[in-house]
Amino acid sequence: MVKVVKFGGSSLADATQFKKVADIIHSDPERRYVVPSAPGKRFKDDIKVTDLLYKAYYAKSGKEFGKTFETIRQRYQDIIDELNLKLDLSEEFDKIKKAFKDQVSIEYAASRGEYLNGIVLANYLGFEFIDPATVIFIDEHGNYDAEMTDPKLSEKLASVENAVIPGFYGAKNDGSNEIKTFSRGGSDVTGSIVAKNGNVSLYENWTDVSGCLIADPRIVDNPDVIGTITYKELRELSYMGASVLHENSIFPVRSQGIPIVIKNTNKPEDAGTLIVESTCHKPDHVITGIAGKKGFATIMIEKDMMNSEIGFGRKVLQVLEDNQLSFEHTPSGIDTMTIVVETKAFIDKEQQILAGIHRAVEPDSIELESDLALIAIVGRGMRDGRGTAAKVFTALAQKNINIKMIDQGSSELNIIVGVKNIHFEEAIRAIYDMFITNEKKNDR
Ligand code: ASP
Repeated sequence: MVKVVKFGGSSLADATQFKKVADIIHSDPERRYVVPSAPGKRFKDDIKVTDLLYKAYYAKSGKEFGKTFETIRQRYQDIIDELNLKLDLSEEFDKIKKAFKDQVSIEYAASRGEYLNGIVLANYLGFEFIDPATVIFIDEHGNYDAEMTDPKLSEKLASVENAVIPGFYGAKNDGSNEIKTFSRGGSDVTGSIVAKNGNVSLYENWTDVSGCLIADPRIVDNPDVIGTITYKELRELSYMGASVLHENSIFPVRSQGIPIVIKNTNKPEDAGTLIVESTCHKPDHVITGIAGKKGFATIMIEKDMMNSEIGFGRKVLQVLEDNQLSFEHTPSGIDTMTIVVETKAFIDKEQQILAGIHRAVEPDSIELESDLALIAIVGRGMRDGRGTAAKVFTALAQKNINIKMIDQGSSELNIIVGVKNIHFEEAIRAIYDMFITNEKKNDR
């Protein structure tokens, strides 16, 4: 079995973290390919190396540039010194400094965090260093070019026993060999691409939490970790704001049926969360997770006899399309149609869209309401269960929270409720308690 291990920035923030990472890798010979991020925060108000690189790039030259560049250099030097490595990065830093002065490109600048960390980690582990600029190709939109990447990367990986392949960047796919990065957090994507091409059976994504949590820990105190989650469930939760993995990191492994496990570098003994295509593992609870977002608005359109007017919905949605606005949900009644949109995207086009709807379908009235929050209650366990919706509504009713909208996907994988922004946190806590805290109490 071969495993890819990706370590996030906090897992490689300093020499102490490097030691933990090396212990994890050396404890399992199957961990053959390693994808590091750039050094992240060592403490709450620290600055990630990637952010320092952006800062240095914008400073261009002068005092500010010199100071920031020196901070970056020192971060690596501290790691090298504390690990007692015989590694001299001065030539690398001279080259990088010159490139910064020549304003090579912002993507080149940002990528150096992973590049340098890869060199240090490869040296420390005694693994080969593979520069992703030679094997990973990225298009102008920041998506990886599978056709160009896969043959080159798989050939390279097959030729090495162990390797460190820095995350987050590659080369442009236009033959220019210029550096191109993924969007922020993109080392997850690199891990996934390496997993796809390294003939591996598991992609381990190491971070500073023991897996995906059932709810946002800023809202729910100490929420439980999700044991096993499917890609579909994860997609639903991520879309609704749960930040677990970079969006684009799912497809490459999913296409090969490779599971991902999220693990904690600081507590490697914890099981973590396993992300799979499909599973017979019964979920620990009826619901797998809860996530939500504030900042939605509703457009409620009313017209007598709307139900018999064929093409009504299409005409309304055409107005949104003409205004380049995507919608989240469209709950409807007999003579009403409501469209839920993101307030931020809607607000500047509001009057244009109202006028467009008036012209398109001549409604009796249109009412707008903002300050709506959407909460998704997600779980494959719902399909076989009874009373899930009833429990959600009871939880909210007990807290006197008014439900403004309900939507259950036909996949029976989620229930979405809309509540006022001000009720958002309390609603999530009430749902969590209903499904998790109370269930655990009943089990006792
Ligand atoms: N270092 C990059 C960032 O901070 C990429 C990553 O960590 O995945 O976004």
